[in-house]
Amino acid sequence: MVQISEQLNSYRSGPDENGFFGQFGGRFVAETLMPLILDLQDHYEFAKKDASFKAELENLHKHYVGRPSPIYFAERLTDHLGGAKVYFKRDELNHTGSHKINNCLGQILLAKRMGKTRIIAETGAGQHGVAVATAAARFNLPCTVFMGATDVERQKPNVFRMKLLGADIRPVTAGAGTLKDAMNEALRDWVAHVDDTFYIIGTAAGPHPYPAMVRDFQSIIGQEAKEQMMEVEGRLPDHIVACIGGGSNAIGLFHPFLDDPEVNIYGVEAGGYGVETPDHAASLTGGNPGVLHGNRTYLLQDNDGQITEGHSISAGLDYPGIGPEHAFLHESGRVKYVNATDKEALAAFQLCTQLEGIIPALEPAHALSFVEKLAKDRPKDEIILMNLCGRGDKDIFSVAEHLGVDI
Ligand SMILES: *Cc1c(COP(=O)(O)O)cnc(C)c1O
Repeated sequence: MVQISEQLNSYRSGPDENGFFGQFGGRFVAETLMPLILDLQDHYEFAKKDASFKAELENLHKHYVGRPSPIYFAERLTDHLGGAKVYFKRDELNHTGSHKINNCLGQILLAKRMGKTRIIAETGAGQHGVAVATAAARFNLPCTVFMGATDVERQKPNVFRMKLLGADIRPVTAGAGTLKDAMNEALRDWVAHVDDTFYIIGTAAGPHPYPAMVRDFQSIIGQEAKEQMMEVEGRLPDHIVACIGGGSNAIGLFHPFLDDPEVNIYGVEAGGYGVETPDHAASLTGGNPGVLHGNRTYLLQDNDGQITEGHSISAGLDYPGIGPEHAFLHESGRVKYVNATDKEALAAFQLCTQLEGIIPALEPAHALSFVEKLAKDRPKDEIILMNLCGRGDKDIFSVAEHLGVDI
């Protein structure tokens, strides 16, 4: 007799002991990495149940990051759209300007507990690199950040920021010199420095236990939002929305709501020039399952299985893969994955700035573009909650360029 436990019916029960969410995830790594991954998993399992770990992280959230981040009723935007009420979860107010710090602090506390003395990380646009360099400075650990050579050129302000914070930047010239190549190089470095090094992955991807661990550290977003919605509206939102690069801010918002069937959930991928063109970063809408960076998930790839370069106006969204839990939530139908083009994101960026006095990062501007359509379609008594996961200061140069403005 097969017993179907309540846990198995939950969308929140994954991953299994081998790191699989349905057929996605796992740990496809070199044999030399296996002991490290298992050691990390053991330490994480232990820390998760340890009250002092939780207390230390909570203290940092409150006094260093500035959590809880507020939820905010976007009244003028709501009036302008003329439909459902729009709320923002204001994670752009966090120290360092995005949700990335939530995960970095969790992982660096774990590194300390494991007695590691050196931090490595990959970064694309540089937002994760800045958050890691910040945490490394705070905890007095030397830090090396791998960054594609192309991205080093494109993201000079963040490169300088990381250097000021004391990080050693290693430009990676392999491949196209972007995030995928930086992550390969970081994994290689990790194998070569097994004893002293902790690898802080920046999104809910990589080999098990990273996707689950990053999700857990980012779930503070959804946990707070749930409580705050109850306080302000006395009920849960009808719709929640977040943008997707690798999927960490999205899974952080979504996970606490997965077993609330009345809440509709939408992930917004980067549509670039349009998902019908080769130039987008919508891994679920326009990709196929394959293996990259230690896990099985949806990837942008050509007919030979070669990973292709994603394109987005937003450097933070052009990862050619997506966290495996999203691949599972996509196939199960619990979360709907949609996309927004560069143009739509740019328009939403301007609208939010002008109506709400909030300059959003280009990444959540993708989510906002979908929120615009959704709000117009839904009645005034419905509620939409969107994760405003980053601030736009970093993006003003590329926005100026796209608007044809010389600053
Ligand atoms: C890095 C970043 C993203 C993309 O990463 P996810 O793991 O998908 O959250 C999105 N928004 C901002 C502001 C970022 O810095």
